[in-house]
Amino acid sequence: MISIRPHTNVLVLTGAGISAESGIRTFRDSGGLWENHRVEDVASPLGFRRDPRLVWSFYKKRWEDAQLATPNTAHLALAELEQKLGNNFNLITQNVDGLHYKAGNRRVWEMHGSLNHCYCTNCEAGYSLREINLSEDLPGCPACKGLLRPDIVWFGEVPYFLPEIEEALKVCEIFLVVGTSGAVYPAAGFVMSAKLMGAQTLAINLDKPDNLGFIDHFFQGKSGEVLPKLLAEWYQN
Ligand code: NAD
Ligand code: ZN
Repeated sequence: MISIRPHTNVLVLTGAGISAESGIRTFRDSGGLWENHRVEDVASPLGFRRDPRLVWSFYKKRWEDAQLATPNTAHLALAELEQKLGNNFNLITQNVDGLHYKAGNRRVWEMHGSLNHCYCTNCEAGYSLREINLSEDLPGCPACKGLLRPDIVWFGEVPYFLPEIEEALKVCEIFLVVGTSGAVYPAAGFVMSAKLMGAQTLAINLDKPDNLGFIDHFFQGKSGEVLPKLLAEWYQN
């Protein structure tokens, strides 16, 4: 029996799959490549040191794609759920595309950073991509001329908001996972933590996730089709 009421504490974790129906490709379905690039070349500190121009051109393109993308019915269903639950709702996303904000969610932890932001490798000042001169191959810091880098948490780096997430995992009554392969840690471990702390664990994904063993109820399908229907079924005033 799954039931969400206005006072139910719901924590959601989303991954690349929730944005697939907005036209943003996941990388698992392209054989571990991300838009034809090896992940270690474009999503690791070593890759950035080796070829910062390639990394910048990659993220500029991802940013442009994300700017053009619109939230799909799954994003919108989560925005509606936040409206209903208020402070009892929290959303962790591994996505960097900003689509949850575009859909209207505000209680969002972008644990892997955001395509919309960058920061200086020298003085650490942060900027929105809109504020900087992207026509340069290697964008420089307006304050100190240091090399800017995308504000993306790369492989080997520590995700953002881990203390907040740890607290939220302790208190959630329902932990809902949408569109993630369960292969990228630490996010893949959250479902185990939530389950062991006593939450009911639910997952919606196109393929069976790797961490299926800790999921109480698994719903297979496209999140844009399945999630709005399930949330309408589960929610009771
Ligand atoms: P992943 O690519 O490893 O897995 C995506 C999962 O989504 C797969 O299991 C797949 O079966 C499922 N899926 C595909 N289409 C779906 C749909 N329509 N509905 C429901 N499920 C669907 O993604 P991940 O687990 O998020 O890990 C990849 C990492 O790559 C993330 O950490 C993220 O930072 C980064 N990434 C982000 C984006 C983005 O921001 N949109 C896109 C690609 C990669
Ligand atoms: Zn600087």
